[in-house]
Amino acid sequence: MARCCHLLYIRRIYKKIEIVINLSMRQYQDIFNMAEETGTMTNNTYYQNNKQKIQEQYAAKREDKLAYQIEYNLINRDKYLDYQKSYYESKKDEILRMKREKITCECGKLVSMGYMTAHKKTKKHCAFEALSNLTPEPSCST
Ligand SMILES: [Zn+2]
Repeated sequence: MARCCHLLYIRRIYKKIEIVINLSMRQYQDIFNMAEETGTMTNNTYYQNNKQKIQEQYAAKREDKLAYQIEYNLINRDKYLDYQKSYYESKKDEILRMKREKITCECGKLVSMGYMTAHKKTKKHCAFEALSNLTPEPSCST
């Protein structure tokens, strides 16, 4: 993946995760409400009661599922790359503007968004991280 798409890509993924979490929370709520109303079992107890059977079923189909996934990725790879390319072209101005945007790093230095990842590996930033003990092992190579 091109580096310039990275931030937008991450934002998109986070948005998707947020939607999925919200949806699944709602679904769980519904399931719990239904279980409370009708006195039936929830999904979780169904899994606990049938754990071995479910795991056996998965193990039996695992190879097929992996083969399908690999085949799908091979077939749709070009389609995905084309989509990425056209997405970048359509949002190019916005992406470049975002990359140029200056933000202040936690170490106090003014850095552009596009340079942030590289900045986090600089000696100055690593020294700050080591001093403040935010991470036990700074992410930069010494
Ligand atoms: Zn910094």
